Amino acid sequence: MEDLMPDDSIFDQYPLDQWKDPDHRIMDRFSLKGKKGFVTGGAGGLGRNVAAAWAEAGADVAIVDLPRTRETLEPLAAELSERYGVNVVPLYCDVSDREQVDMLKTSLIERLGTVDVAFINAGVNVPGDDADEPYEVWQKTIDINLTGAYLTARIAQHIMREHGHGGSLVFTSSLSAHNANFIGGGPSPVAAYGASKAGIYEYARYLAAALAPYGIRSNTVSPGYVWSGIFEGRIVPEAHDMMTAPVPMRRFGTNEEIAAAVLFLASDASSYVTGTNLQVDGGYSVY
Ligand code: NAD
Repeated sequence: MEDLMPDDSIFDQYPLDQWKDPDHRIMDRFSLKGKKGFVTGGAGGLGRNVAAAWAEAGADVAIVDLPRTRETLEPLAAELSERYGVNVVPLYCDVSDREQVDMLKTSLIERLGTVDVAFINAGVNVPGDDADEPYEVWQKTIDINLTGAYLTARIAQHIMREHGHGGSLVFTSSLSAHNANFIGGGPSPVAAYGASKAGIYEYARYLAAALAPYGIRSNTVSPGYVWSGIFEGRIVPEAHDMMTAPVPMRRFGTNEEIAAAVLFLASDASSYVTGTNLQVDGGYSVY
């Protein structure tokens, strides 16, 4: 009879008032102290700001980008290491190349020991990405944005499963995954780009379900228009106004605003968040 009694120790995992513990600090949940992470597209606007945020939060970080970014990446890694007192290393890899990504896995283990958090962010918007786009434009976009996300997330989740104590994957999707984003006067069309970002959105949701048993969370951030550096010199003030007209906040976002959202999703502040998408778009998606 006793064996049939339910074991109510299962409820011990739900503390009601953790703040009553004098040592408890909710801000500790945003810390990445002692964690190891990598950021793809790390030389770019969003990537380098997330690397900085993670380093400030206490993580050792590998900043990953193409070899052509070496002149940016080397001093960036040195500056972040010195400023935040953590280990920040530059690593070079074309995320669409399977062999290079497999080699990246080896380098990550050699240089960081393991991976607890990964920002899967490298992406391109190839010129000519419209309804009449040539096959090459479509293929290049899918190869880098979608297949690159799959390949780099694959090594991240394999490392996390090997070390056995979970982790967090954060992917960069886009407003263009959810919205046709067809704005005359905008910087460039986004046909394959939108499809690739919608693919990332759904792939991240799939991983959330598949990897939850390993303690691995998987989420996307969908930036709206972000003044990340890519628009500088490419748009005139009239185009700025046209692009921000459908945005309730009437402005671009900043790299810092994306970095804060990614820090939330990477850290234990979001420990019960998986399979979700965080729109950081000034309200664009409410219409
Ligand atoms: P960015 O061009 O500054 O950064 C992208 C980085 O990806 C670059 O450093 C580039 O060298 C790297 N990269 C490109 N191809 C690569 C490859 N094959 N392998 C490895 N690295 C490669 O642009 P950003 O604005 O920082 O964008 C970062 C991410 O955010 C992209 O995925 C982009 O699509 C997405 N995004 C940007 C905006 C925006 O408004 N800026 C909005 C929504 C989504």
